[in-house]
Amino acid sequence: MTSLPLIPVDPDARGRRPAMPPRHLADLDLPGRQAFVTELGEPAFRAKQVSNHYFGRLVRDPGQMTDLPAATRERLAGTLLPTLLTPVRELACDDGATRKALWRLHDGSLVESVLMGYPDRVTVCISSQAGCGMACPFCATGQAGLTRNLSTAEIVDQAVYLAGVAASGAVAGSPPRLSHVVFMGMGEPLANYSRVVAAIRRLVAPAPEGLGLSQRHITVSTVGLVPAIRRLASEDLSVTLALSLHAPDDELRDELVPVNQRWKVSEVLDAAWDYAATTGRRVSIEYAMIKDVNDQPWRADLLGRLLAGKLAHVNLIPLNPTPGSRWDASPKPVEREFVRRLREAGVSTTVRDTRGREIDGACGQLAAAEDRDIEPRTATA
Ligand code: SAH
Repeated sequence: MTSLPLIPVDPDARGRRPAMPPRHLADLDLPGRQAFVTELGEPAFRAKQVSNHYFGRLVRDPGQMTDLPAATRERLAGTLLPTLLTPVRELACDDGATRKALWRLHDGSLVESVLMGYPDRVTVCISSQAGCGMACPFCATGQAGLTRNLSTAEIVDQAVYLAGVAASGAVAGSPPRLSHVVFMGMGEPLANYSRVVAAIRRLVAPAPEGLGLSQRHITVSTVGLVPAIRRLASEDLSVTLALSLHAPDDELRDELVPVNQRWKVSEVLDAAWDYAATTGRRVSIEYAMIKDVNDQPWRADLLGRLLAGKLAHVNLIPLNPTPGSRWDASPKPVEREFVRRLREAGVSTTVRDTRGREIDGACGQLAAAEDRDIEPRTATA
């Protein structure tokens, strides 16, 4: 690696004017919405009514908001709920239990979200940026670079939209209610810090202000932007932090997660342990298993020594294929030995399932290509 990636600088702060979308109800807290409605010449209580449709009933069609006066329904709901995400394509696999949605944003940018149904819960994996600036060489999103930050409402709307899909019973064999949100889609959430934190506040606020999810059911995954991790710890939110470690030593991590050139393994782990201490939440350590790259027994032992006795859980991710990648997933026996050594060191460890691989919807595969010819599992959007 020769150059440092650009880190947590918002593209807006670099002097470019990214094309941010129109203001939407989900950008604002309830007092903000009341002010917005008042600006439109409507009584403030309408903010709560429209919020209740959007967050409480997952309804966005003004025609269904019959408690609003017919004369102003379209104008009011249309202004508070401008279309942010236009579905371009929805792909399903695992008998409909995994669904990837591709959206077009108002400026033509493409982003993806993934809905995953399990017997006891429904999880949505959402994007925080169009593209990503972190340049991890094994991740498809990282290859294309950053287009722009998503707005708070563009982030929230992915979850609300897919909560509506789940509520329609589309995810067979799962509860109808969205319960978990993971910021593991496209983008580095902590590089779009203020909008992501505002989005989390909308997701956890009780209806009608927000979606009413449990903070403990929200996971923010980061490459390890140390100052932002420390700031997140001070937000009075107890969301789960997931740290994309992928190597226990700086030499390899400098290559796999280039931001490591700025914040080293020891610094990022210190920030993670401080986060765990402040929030009481166990930190999830993500480790993609890459054949002959980071899967050696000695690296398992080193990782075990770094994590032993800490409030941490290791989530090993079998490397998912990405276009043009020179790397493969570790063979299963190598993976099992890695798990064995970590557990022997007293570190709780699981292997993540590879949901959505066939539809390029698994970790690191989101690249938002519209023209990829993916198999005839196309569902209706
Ligand atoms: N930018 C954030 C969140 C997005 S990715 C982050 O890096 O944490 C979610 C997880 O998928 C991260 O741990 C990421 O490193 C991992 N990942 C990326 N590409 C992958 C691939 N090809 N196979 C398996 N995991 C991958």
